[in-house]
Amino acid sequence: MTTDLPPLPDDWSRALAIAAHPDDLEYGTNAAVAAWTAAGRSVSYVLATRGEAGIAGTPPEVAGPLREAEERASAAAVGVHDVRFLGHRDGVVTEGLDLRRDLAREIRRARPQLVVVSNHRDTFGPGTWNSADHRAVGRATLDAVGDAGNEWVFRELIDEGFETWSGVRHVVVAASPQPTHAVDVTGWRDVAITSLAEHRAYLTALDPRPVVEQAREVVLMTTGGEDGPARVPFEVFG
Ligand SMILES: [Zn+2]
Repeated sequence: MTTDLPPLPDDWSRALAIAAHPDDLEYGTNAAVAAWTAAGRSVSYVLATRGEAGIAGTPPEVAGPLREAEERASAAAVGVHDVRFLGHRDGVVTEGLDLRRDLAREIRRARPQLVVVSNHRDTFGPGTWNSADHRAVGRATLDAVGDAGNEWVFRELIDEGFETWSGVRHVVVAASPQPTHAVDVTGWRDVAITSLAEHRAYLTALDPRPVVEQAREVVLMTTGGEDGPARVPFEVFG
């Protein structure tokens, strides 16, 4: 499906990738990120939560720091060293002004030309309902791009020292059921697998198989399949 999609616009040098949870950016998006950072582009990550409600049997106060550390290692594996956590509550993120303000602040801080966000749509495709946190963070991000450029919205951000930023040219949505473009990740899937496998505690709790085996299966599935051309699809706005 993705083989006929045109390449992503490349008129950018700084990207900010935003997601709800540690691990959201590691299911294929990280292969594109690896290609970008290797080409000299800069990429920062913002995670709305610490994913503290993500490990069955592990209390949030233990899981949060663990998942934050795993995300930092996972990001570093694909050349991302600027990783920020907003501290919204995992599992009950609400799409509203608080989230929009927090995201607008991060967009003004990072001043990206490209914003990457995980899927804001109701489903990942037929029969696969998306989660409330993903929908909320995705939709709030699409709104916050406009907020970041408007001096009269969230005026307190100006007081905090965050000047407006209207330089976002494209918002690209990962794992959308309506992809419009794709990134060639030939040669970058192995590092993406290594990156996802850094979520060791999280993946181990989900599946008894070795984490690298799990990571390999998922990354190949989300990047065009074992035998297909290695591509990561995105839905592009702007
Ligand atoms: Zn998630």
